[in-house]
Amino acid sequence: MPTYTITLQGPDGTTERLLYDPHASLLTHDDGRPVDLSQAGFVYGGKSGWETAMAVSSENPGLKTHSVRKLKVSLGFSCNYSCAYCGQASQVGREESTDLTDVSRFLANLDSWWDGGRDGKGAGTNIQFWGGEPFVYWKKLKALAEGIKDRWPSAELSVITNGSVLNKEKIEWLDRLDFAVAVSHDGPGQALRGPDPFEDPEKAAAIRALFDRLHPKGKFSLNVVLTRDHYSLKTAREWFAKTMGDQSVVVGSEELLLPYDPGGLMLSPATDEEHKQIRLALLGEIMDGSALAVSTVWMKLQDWFNSLAQARPASTLGQKCGMDREDNIAVDLKGNVHTCQNTGDAAHRIGHVETLDEVRLTTATHWSLREECRRCPVVQLCKGACMYLEGEYWRRGCDNSFTYTRHAHRRPVDAHGESRCRHRWPYETRYLTGRRVAATTPENRKENRMNRPTMEDGHVVMPEEEFEQLLELAAERGARRALADVGLVDEHAASDIRDLRSLLGAVRTARRTAWQTVVRLITTGLILALIAGVAIKLKLFGGGH
Ligand code: SF4
Ligand code: SF4
Repeated sequence: MPTYTITLQGPDGTTERLLYDPHASLLTHDDGRPVDLSQAGFVYGGKSGWETAMAVSSENPGLKTHSVRKLKVSLGFSCNYSCAYCGQASQVGREESTDLTDVSRFLANLDSWWDGGRDGKGAGTNIQFWGGEPFVYWKKLKALAEGIKDRWPSAELSVITNGSVLNKEKIEWLDRLDFAVAVSHDGPGQALRGPDPFEDPEKAAAIRALFDRLHPKGKFSLNVVLTRDHYSLKTAREWFAKTMGDQSVVVGSEELLLPYDPGGLMLSPATDEEHKQIRLALLGEIMDGSALAVSTVWMKLQDWFNSLAQARPASTLGQKCGMDREDNIAVDLKGNVHTCQNTGDAAHRIGHVETLDEVRLTTATHWSLREECRRCPVVQLCKGACMYLEGEYWRRGCDNSFTYTRHAHRRPVDAHGESRCRHRWPYETRYLTGRRVAATTPENRKENRMNRPTMEDGHVVMPEEEFEQLLELAAERGARRALADVGLVDEHAASDIRDLRSLLGAVRTARRTAWQTVVRLITTGLILALIAGVAIKLKLFGGGH
């Protein structure tokens, strides 16, 4: 397995070499001495007896256990917003539609396939409610979460929302059920993504009211996604602190976006120069400490130092999102088990809760089965980007993850003064025996990507193929918006359409039947008149003279 050279440069220009083996988590000086981690607050030792992670793939499918500890319930993919990028984009509209009877059935059956947590009352289990926008499914969400809280009061409940459909009733309810809420918002980059609830005074007030309720309990956070045009964690955090009027607001980041649709590709860095620019900007924020105020950055760094302190073998690493784990499961209200909460189409239905032992995660590829990841210096931090993406989307996601994770790799252990190591950490990372393979070479990165259009002689110029991709995306968004304008946006949209169609069918049948009745009446009348005429003619009813 590859070992990498890390060259440190001190403020006086002197350099020093370290060796890093990400598979054994060994960071040593040239002469083999372990690097002193105490300046970062870590000491060697601790955990041993590591368990090897299962390398899931279609040939070696992952399983799911009844001892579920992270349960992600998908309510559907409807959303009142139509963001410029969306992790569920390829799946929207392909999920099974559900109603309140499915909620009752789900609750009634939950006991039969879940062990109920460590104490049978939900302890040690995090239950997440997913959309689309979960509050578009208010009736289902309410019935489901209340049913779960009644029966499993120790379970932690959480939800991610765009924050645009909150009101007093929902805020009180979230507080009462002790929910943890993350509001997904890109801060100063929100305009690149879609509508901004903070621009609507009523919506902004509702988000602040929720913050006031949940922040003191440590149950409120804002979640920012970085893109090619908006990648400063420092600016994002400052924006949120100002907007919420509180410096202690908790801000997390879903990192540099993973692309799942053409919009995601458009918002990903497109050139090596852009990747470099983002990396250097993020590095600056790590070096000056400002990015460390973002909770997920801090946790990622702690995790990396821990990996060194405990010599964590890479073979123990599952995927970053955890959905390859046996005790993490994503289900819909019909009881279908899915690859993850962002998938809903038939290709990602990997079984059913009624036959949980037969569920097979065949739709994922563990990082250790990808050549790029096996030879990657940041694998301990990245853990393989998205496990189900393939082809161009996976490669671009990998590029984005590499750029984001490489900056975190450069934690300045010496950033706090003279008494600490004089070296910057690390100034430059070079590969000793390993190389990132073809997928991310500059040549390869030029293939099939959607680039930022250029201006020539006052005309916007872009490749035809990308233009068609853009048109397709615009048409899809337009259609969604048109449906939203006529009220077909919420969880009932599909069943409303079905009801309308059956109503029309009934009208057509009634019209056809009415005509048939009229024709039958006229025919019967004519026949009766004919019979009466014949009877009179033949003098059948007395009256003979
Ligand atoms: S940056 Fe790319 S190659 Fe490295 S671990 Fe992440 S997905 Fe794999
Ligand atoms: S597999 Fe993991 S990374 Fe990929 S979309 Fe699902 S939750 Fe996200």
